Amino acid sequence: MDGKLTGPHCEHCHDKGYIAVVQDGCIVHRDCECMAGRRSMQRIEKSGLKSLLDRYTFDAYETPEPWQQNAKELAMRFLDDHERKWFVASGVPGSGKTHICTAICGAFMERGMETRYMLWRSDSTRLKAVINDPDEYGALIDPLKAVKVLYIDDFWKAGRDEKGKLKITAADVNLAFDLLNDRYNDPKKVTIISTELLIPDILDVDVAVGSRIYERGKEYCLRIRGDEKNWRLRA
Ligand SMILES: [Zn+2]
Repeated sequence: MDGKLTGPHCEHCHDKGYIAVVQDGCIVHRDCECMAGRRSMQRIEKSGLKSLLDRYTFDAYETPEPWQQNAKELAMRFLDDHERKWFVASGVPGSGKTHICTAICGAFMERGMETRYMLWRSDSTRLKAVINDPDEYGALIDPLKAVKVLYIDDFWKAGRDEKGKLKITAADVNLAFDLLNDRYNDPKKVTIISTELLIPDILDVDVAVGSRIYERGKEYCLRIRGDEKNWRLRA
């Protein structure tokens, strides 16, 4: 009889989430290998990425323009080439950055890789609020450091002052360094960043943060400039 778990159908456990194996002459239940993906999916559901995952797939990514074909090819190549490498999608709003990054996350989750979604503006606000409480801060940031695949959406999203200078605070820089340096130090961890900033902008704000993003992201960096047009508005 099939189990009741929702999500992609699993041939091994028939959606029960466990399989029976014989161990020392006894039958014991063991987690099926599909459970890593299911747990990741549960976390994604909680994080709000679920609605994006259904919509923002590789199949649904339209590529009428050569740069969009390039973007898709780059992202698909990254799926099998991400050791010591990060994926960085930078550029103007509405250029499909979130779509391509979400499609990457979906593909990793289908492979059972634990994935977390961080929306910089809201999650960084919560983290900065507890920065002086090591226990609370650790409880929030440790999972983001530890997870196999982390997608940081709208990194360093900030306003600009009247002179056009980015309003990124020392607390934003410290938080970014704490998180990114930790992930930088483990070449097996996969980090995906979408941002309206270009890497030179990030380097202008902080060299330590910018240089890590540059070093890991230089091979898989999408730069979608305004002159490539905001294709979402063209339809
Ligand atoms: Zn299974």
